[in-house]
Amino acid sequence: MKRMIVFMFKGAYNNLGRILFANERKTSIPMRNKIATGQITYPKVVNENACIGCSACANICPVDAIHMEDLEEPVEITKDYVKEKHPVFDPMKCMYCFQCHDSCPIFAFYGKPAAIHPRHVGEFDVNLAELLQQPIVMKDDKEFEAVISLLDEKARNLLKEGS
Ligand code: SF4
Ligand code: SF4
Repeated sequence: MKRMIVFMFKGAYNNLGRILFANERKTSIPMRNKIATGQITYPKVVNENACIGCSACANICPVDAIHMEDLEEPVEITKDYVKEKHPVFDPMKCMYCFQCHDSCPIFAFYGKPAAIHPRHVGEFDVNLAELLQQPIVMKDDKEFEAVISLLDEKARNLLKEGS
């Protein structure tokens, strides 16, 4: 019993030091200062060149960590399809379930790197006009319907035509 009480007190003492004085923290002082002053740069999450602005990522996100914003200058992707909005990601809300990534049609339908990745989207250059001409590679009808139902109407019409 005595050993148990000593153990508990030691644990409480150690945790208090960790909480109040950052004891045992491995983060460097410059990094701590950067975090404290908001100078952290987050990884790139959206690849604008590969995004068609379909809203699937924003619609699937269970915690509203993505919202769509109007583009100042809409981008003509094909002669029938103009991208008018793009996704904006909030890292403070994200719980990293990757549903946005998996539902992005660039990945789900065409097997290319998704236009969104909550950790880091990386660099992927794609000619969307050419890609959208290609047949959709997704074989499972149920999964296809699940993704297509997430797209806004304009993008849904465009991609259904290509299916
Ligand atoms: S990974 Fe983050 S942003 Fe993407 S759907 Fe999940 S919670 Fe939302
Ligand atoms: S699901 Fe992919 S293509 Fe659609 S808006 Fe999100 S990032 Fe862009």
